[in-house]
Amino acid sequence: MLGEGILKGLAETARNFAGSFVSAERLTTVEYPEQRIVPIEATRDFPFLVYDGDDWEKGLRCVACQICEKECPPKCIYIVKSTDKKPDALGKMQIYPARFDIDISVCMSCQICVEVCPFEAIKMDTEFELATTDRFGGLLYDRQQLAKSNDHFHKIHPTEAAEVDARLAEEKVKADAKAKAAAAAAAAKAVAPAATPAAKRPEGETKP
Ligand code: SF4
Ligand code: SF4
Repeated sequence: MLGEGILKGLAETARNFAGSFVSAERLTTVEYPEQRIVPIEATRDFPFLVYDGDDWEKGLRCVACQICEKECPPKCIYIVKSTDKKPDALGKMQIYPARFDIDISVCMSCQICVEVCPFEAIKMDTEFELATTDRFGGLLYDRQQLAKSNDHFHKIHPTEAAEVDARLAEEKVKADAKAKAAAAAAAAKAVAPAATPAAKRPEGETKP
């Protein structure tokens, strides 16, 4: 019937309108900004850099590998590598980003930077109140503006953050075991040369 779809749509709207007075499920809007809906876990807008501990600069997980910079489709990430090193999340000495900027006026929230990062160093935030009158400087975020704690990550994406923590803890155990084995092998090698000449000397041969 001609107009059947329109009538169905109007009926659904009327059902929701009337239902919103009696059912919380149908009341899908709030009086923003006084009232706010907590974003669901899958919400994402712009990336942030995760840091561990209390010091954002020391705790940044990013090792400036620049994979995200290369893979970002609109090329809105800009990284400058450090010339010195600092310990990463696993205690390994690594370079770090002396500069890490994201132009969020260009970012299209695709999350590719997050997918390609091998260090769990960049994640998607849920902060959306970012309006500014400064179109250029105000939307170019530097590493300090981008740095947010692992606690923040847990708060906005608890399931993913718990998985990441478990994975990093497992990797740290493996890395510690590997370092211990390497140290033991090096110590054994250092002792070996002193014992070897006597052991190899042919039978019956005496010292000159
Ligand atoms: S979310 Fe996409 S567009 Fe934005 S910085 Fe990451 S890779 Fe680039
Ligand atoms: S955020 Fe990840 S992928 Fe990007 S430079 Fe840092 S460590 Fe590499």
